Amino acid sequence: MNVTVIGAGYVGLVTGVGLASVGHQVNCVDIDADRVAMIQRGEVPFYERDLPEMLQKVLSEGRFSATTDVESAILRSAITFIAVGTPTINGQQDLSAIKTATHTIGRILQQSDQYHTIVVKSTVLPKTSREVVYPILLEYLSKGQFGVCMNPEFLREGTAVNDFMQPDRIVIGGSDKRCVQMLTELYAPFQARIWYGSLEEVELVKYTSNALLATLISFSNEIGALCEATPNTDVRNVMQMLHMDQRLTPLIDNHYVSPEILTYLQSSFGYGGSCLPKDARALRAYGQSLDIPMHMMESVIQVNDERPNVMIRLAEHHLGDLRDKIITVLGLAFKNGTDDTRESPSLAVIDRLLVKGALVRGYDPRVKAIDYPEVSLFDTSENAIVGSDAVMICVNHYEFVRIKWSELAPKMRNPLLIDGRRLVLDVDKPMSANLTYVQIGKMPSQADD
Ligand code: NAD
Repeated sequence: MNVTVIGAGYVGLVTGVGLASVGHQVNCVDIDADRVAMIQRGEVPFYERDLPEMLQKVLSEGRFSATTDVESAILRSAITFIAVGTPTINGQQDLSAIKTATHTIGRILQQSDQYHTIVVKSTVLPKTSREVVYPILLEYLSKGQFGVCMNPEFLREGTAVNDFMQPDRIVIGGSDKRCVQMLTELYAPFQARIWYGSLEEVELVKYTSNALLATLISFSNEIGALCEATPNTDVRNVMQMLHMDQRLTPLIDNHYVSPEILTYLQSSFGYGGSCLPKDARALRAYGQSLDIPMHMMESVIQVNDERPNVMIRLAEHHLGDLRDKIITVLGLAFKNGTDDTRESPSLAVIDRLLVKGALVRGYDPRVKAIDYPEVSLFDTSENAIVGSDAVMICVNHYEFVRIKWSELAPKMRNPLLIDGRRLVLDVDKPMSANLTYVQIGKMPSQADD
C-alpha cells in the first residue's frame, strides 16, 4: 500500500521505516528540511538502535523516501498517518501541530476523488479524533470521501524498532468500517493481536497505559522515600521481596518468570521522557475538565515532581552547602538507550543543583548538547569526574558500571558517589576505592554500609 507519514520524529520515522520494511511504499514528510535531508541520506536524526540500518535498507530498496513535499506524498497515498508532537503546555494538551497537519491533509485531498484513510498516530486525548480531526477534514471534504482512524503507538524509545515490528497489540478505532478495514490490511504483515475499539477507547488506552507506568514508578518512589526515612530498610530489598509474590513473579514450568513490568516497580528519582510526564498531566487536565478530581494522577505527578529532590538532599547531607561545589551528573537522557532529554529527571536534578549554586558538569555517552549554557559537558565520564566534589549517577548506562573508581576517586576533590539508579551496587566496585558511596532508597547514614 502507498502510505504517507506526517512527522519524521521518533514515532513517525520508526512507523514509516517499519511499514516500508514489510513491503509498503512510504513517504515520510516533515516540515524540518534539515531533518528530511538527513533521513534521505540514510542518517537518523536521533539515537535509536537498529533504525539506521533499517532506514538505509528501505531507502536502497526504493520503498521509503523522506520529503518536505507533502502534497505529492499524500496524492500518491491511500493512507496518511499523523505522527506530529502533542506537547502539554500549561497542563493542557496542545493540538496545534495536529490541527495544522489535518488542515494540510484536507486541503490537499480536495484534489483527489479517491477515498482516503487518515490515521491519528500521535497520542491525543479522548474525543480529539472525532471532535477535532474529523470536523477539520469535513471543512474540505465530503462524508464518504475519507475516514479517520485512531491507532496509538506503544513503542518505547531504546527498543522502538523491535516494539514496532513485534507489537504486543495493535489497537484501532475508526469513524467507519472502510478505514478500519484499510488499516487492518496495512498491518496484515505484522504478527500481532489487533483489538478494535471506539475512537475514544483507543485514545484513552494510550493514556491508561502510560498512567499505569507512571503510577507504578511513583508508587515505588514513595516507598523509596519511606525507606530513606526508616532505619534498617533498603528499598531494593523491600521491592525484591514484593516481586516474589507469585502474582508478580509466577512459577511457570518450574521457572520463576519475571515480567518486564517489574522494572517499573523499582525506586529511583522520577520518571521522565517525552511521554509519561506530559501524558499524566494531559490525563489529569482531561479528567478535571469533566469535573473528575483525578486524585490518583494528581498524586502520581506530585510524587514525581518532588522526587528529584532526593539527589540534592543526599548531596547536602554529605557536602553541606552546595554553593560552588563541583557536581558531575552522569547520564543526561531520560533513560538508557536514547539521546532524548525531553523532561529528563537528570535535568530536573540539574535545575535544582543550579538553584543551589553548584557548578554542574555533565556527561552522557549519547547526548552531546543540552539547553543549559551553565553546565559544562565533557567528552568522557573520566574527564567529567576528575576534580569533582560529587558524582551523581542518573542513568543506568552500562558504561558507568565499568568506571574504575579506584583510579578516579583519588583524583576527585571529594570522593563522593551518589547512585540514583542503584547501578554500581551490582558490581560492588566502589567500596574498595576509598569512596563515599551513597545510594537512594535507604537512610543516608546507612548509605555506606
Ligand atoms: P517528535 O517531536 O520526535 O516528532 C514530531 C515531528 O513532527 C518533528 O520532526 C516535527 O518537525 C514534525 N512536524 C510537526 N508538525 C508538522 C507538520 N505540520 N508537517 C510535517 N511535520 C511536522 O515527536 P515524537 O516523539 O515522535 O511523538 C509524536 C507523537 O507520538 C506524540 O503525540 C507522542 O506523544 C506520541 N508518542 C511518542 C512516543 C515516543 O516514545 N517518543 C511513543 C508513543 C507515542
